[in-house]
Amino acid sequence: MAQQYDTIILGAGPGGMTAATYASRANMSVLMIDRGIYGGQMNNTAEIENYPGFPSILGPELAEKMYASSTQFGAEYAFGTVLHVEAQADGSWRVVTDMDEYSANTVIVATGAAYKKLDVPGEEAFAGRGVSYCAVCDGAFFRGQHVIVVGGGDSAVEEATYLAGLADHVTIVHRRDKLRAQQILQDRAFANEKISFVWNSEVEEILGDDKKVTGVRVRNNQTDETSEIDAAGVFIYVGLLPVSDPVQDLGITDANGWIMTNDRMETSQPGIFAIGDVREKELRQITTAVGDAAVAGQNAFSYNENFKMRASEVTE
Ligand code: FAD
Ligand code: NAP
Repeated sequence: MAQQYDTIILGAGPGGMTAATYASRANMSVLMIDRGIYGGQMNNTAEIENYPGFPSILGPELAEKMYASSTQFGAEYAFGTVLHVEAQADGSWRVVTDMDEYSANTVIVATGAAYKKLDVPGEEAFAGRGVSYCAVCDGAFFRGQHVIVVGGGDSAVEEATYLAGLADHVTIVHRRDKLRAQQILQDRAFANEKISFVWNSEVEEILGDDKKVTGVRVRNNQTDETSEIDAAGVFIYVGLLPVSDPVQDLGITDANGWIMTNDRMETSQPGIFAIGDVREKELRQITTAVGDAAVAGQNAFSYNENFKMRASEVTE
């Protein structure tokens, strides 16, 4: 018999943990499932300066605090990779992981987003040998050396500034001549003497010897000229892809895999809600993930009450 909950939350990033807080505080039985440690992308973030109440906090520290909040009203946490979610005859949902099977009246999908790859030669071959997607995890390996950051968004510029505190020098390679990042992050990077920019340039190949990365070959997309830049590490921050594979069969995603919801965080499947970075939305932040979560937690509660009332009418 699958273990039964009022709601099951897929993913324990800031969105999932906040949904657990709201749903369990409303007296629902709640299970959060994550394939890794709770915290999601916050575990890959050095410093967070835009979460209310904390002028500056380390990502993993905020994750710890959110986890304590999320479990204080009885929400449970289970380890496992969610493989799929399927409808059951009574209108509830079966959640299948690689470890177990569960059943719930409502499901809140909070599986977030994951880094996009550059898809250039050398990226795969040198992954873990100089190619990284996480400055907090790997930056210390490049103390006193030259590293390249690819991308022009918040992640690239913020993490380049973090890396500049460890590396001898950081070069940001961006495909345009303007950054996409928030102005405050741009201002800091421009003011940092250890950061320089290579504009209008695309990485064509990550170069290395038989052991590790030695640099990149870039092509200037205005002049078509190619050049090589020596570096010990290449940090890639070129955007995100939705992590929606466990629900891809439910018809709730757009053509790119982002989950579509209304303002109540409801998807087109009754009882399935989606929140945070996995949702089709404009601004992917911790604050917007937790805002989505509060709305979904509350609406999952209402849905669950109606579901139980309908079920008891059928049995009477
Ligand atoms: P995520 O944090 O992505 O969490 C999703 C969780 O779901 C993960 O724990 C994952 O393991 C789990 N999961 C996925 N698939 C499965 C599955 N099949 N089975 C089980 N579990 C699964 N935002 C800010 O507001 N301020 C910042 O300073 C900031 N800095 C950032 C720096 C970097 C480098 C990055 C990458 C992002 C940063 N962000 C920042 C963005 C912020 O981290 C995200 O918007 C936020 O974490 C999204 O939360 P989420 O709960 O929707 O998803
Ligand atoms: P992003 O905003 O999508 O930016 C991706 C960057 O990579 C863009 O500059 C883009 O160039 C470039 N790029 C995309 N594909 C490329 C390719 N194939 N080759 C070369 N360059 C490529 O992604 P992100 O920076 O990871 O941010 C993701 C989300 O997390 C955002 O919502 C962001 O606000 C949030 N975040 C917030 C913070 C914070 O608040 N402090 C920090 C980090 C992340 P173009 O500019 O030309 O499109």
